[in-house]
Amino acid sequence: KVLALRAHKKGLELACSVAAEIPDTLLGDPGRLRQILVNLVGNAIKFTERGEVIARVAIESATEEEMFLHVSVTDTGMGIPPDQQERIFEAFSQADGSTTRKFGGSGLGLAISVQLVDLMDGRIWLESEVGRGSTFHFTARLGRPAETAEASRRERPVELRGLRVLIVDDNATNRLILEQMLTSWRMRPHVASGAVDALRQLREASQAGAAFPLLLTDVNMPDVDGFTLIERIKEEPSLASITIMMLTSAGERGDAARCRALGVTAYLTKPIRQSELLDAILTSLGSIPAERSGQLVTVHSMREQRRPLHILLAEDNVVNQTLATRLLEKGGHSVVLAVNGREAVETWKRERFDLILMDVQMPEMGGFEATAAIRHAELGGMMHIPIVAMTARAMAGDRESCLEAGMDAYVAKPISAAELVTTIESVVSGRPSVREERVSPAGPALDRPALLERYAEHRDLLFEIAALFAAQAPSWIAAVDAAVARGDAGGLASAAHALRGSAANFMATETVDAAFCLETAAGKGDLILAGRTAERLKKSVERLLRELAEMSERETPG
Ligand code: ADP
Repeated sequence: KVLALRAHKKGLELACSVAAEIPDTLLGDPGRLRQILVNLVGNAIKFTERGEVIARVAIESATEEEMFLHVSVTDTGMGIPPDQQERIFEAFSQADGSTTRKFGGSGLGLAISVQLVDLMDGRIWLESEVGRGSTFHFTARLGRPAETAEASRRERPVELRGLRVLIVDDNATNRLILEQMLTSWRMRPHVASGAVDALRQLREASQAGAAFPLLLTDVNMPDVDGFTLIERIKEEPSLASITIMMLTSAGERGDAARCRALGVTAYLTKPIRQSELLDAILTSLGSIPAERSGQLVTVHSMREQRRPLHILLAEDNVVNQTLATRLLEKGGHSVVLAVNGREAVETWKRERFDLILMDVQMPEMGGFEATAAIRHAELGGMMHIPIVAMTARAMAGDRESCLEAGMDAYVAKPISAAELVTTIESVVSGRPSVREERVSPAGPALDRPALLERYAEHRDLLFEIAALFAAQAPSWIAAVDAAVARGDAGGLASAAHALRGSAANFMATETVDAAFCLETAAGKGDLILAGRTAERLKKSVERLLRELAEMSERETPG
């Protein structure tokens, strides 16, 4: 998911396929696994100009207690010449000298992956042919949890057994992956490579008295795209009742409205996770309690549905207080009321909230002033609470003044439920929750005892990677600074990403969090938030470096 945007921008198909036999739950270190995977997939995207990048996970071997996974990342990129294949696993090495100039990068990603894979008792290797692409493989040992939890998770998809689904996608790999996922839930998938083929299959099935109940279609297809296909389906009464879910590589503005107009029930972004697809199918087919009926199922809506927010409502008018409170509570959120700006600021200081809904005109202290006070207190980028303005004056310049005042979005009064829901969704979705974002600024960056224990048998390695990090960090920080100065979201995201991956080796939660927030903000193109978060990240890296140096000094014999 983190890399989907980068792949989409290059026009690459990014897909992942997890063997159906792999249990949903395994015991291991998700952070490290992700680090290796993100490095391999990131490289694959970086060194591929056209075609596809596919991550696959299979079982290499298994016993009752443990399972070796075999992960591979295949690209259709430039490939690596045989004489370079050994060397690139070494630190600071790149396939040829021009790589850094052309692609950037540190030459460290693979070296660190080698060490991480080693810690997981696995192997890492590659196959590659110049001009055709590369496949990087690694294995890792994971523990298996006790039977019961796993068994109960497996029972859920019973309702789906035997359900016939038509999958429409022009990309053969995607079709195969979807087919495998659906088959693993005992559904009966059929495939079509384009709209014409799809329409033919739908008509034939319907004429045979066995119409497809569910259609899963790609949006971006050559010839006839997904939306056009759905329009044609809706024109034929005998087909129109089918439940339709869409998959897209990147959402376009206006897609959600189009989906609603066409009666599409779900709209999901690729690469789709197996668990997301399952949730979306169950929700779309209504086997999950139907409170969302009429609403578009998206990854956000599914997440929001699960995540009630704690909201501070600043509003002086009693009628509006009641209306807003009821609407929010109906959405499953909890609400704390402040009757003017001053009270809002004080309450915000005392209590943690996910969001503030702020009236603009209030006695004593208005919404703009209160927002300014909050943003001022937040300075240093330690946090950024989303603030949604409510304003009665539906004037043209309103939006601008709200944004200028440091608010994130605005809704016009009288408040409409739908507008409130979508606005709240747009400002909180994709954001790490407030809990994750507020980390005490003064605490140590490093949990030294935990770190030393974790590397108990690999102290040398720990000090070695600490030294690598110390050597590398200044250039990443410089890259962050340069990207902030240029307003280069892509550069910010990749510098933050590099920092995050490396900091994760030291279990430096605060730095990892800050880098993650920066990566997310940059990924969404929110340069204001990114700028603030960059400051926070820099401070945190400084502290981390200091503490790592202290640790190495203290713990190194002699
Ligand atoms: P970085 O990407 O930061 O330079 P890595 O250690 O991750 O560092 O990769 C080292 C080098 O290996 C890259 O610079 C590149 O030359 C080569 N390489 C890695 N992955 C691929 C790939 N999928 N296709 C082609 N070359 C690759």
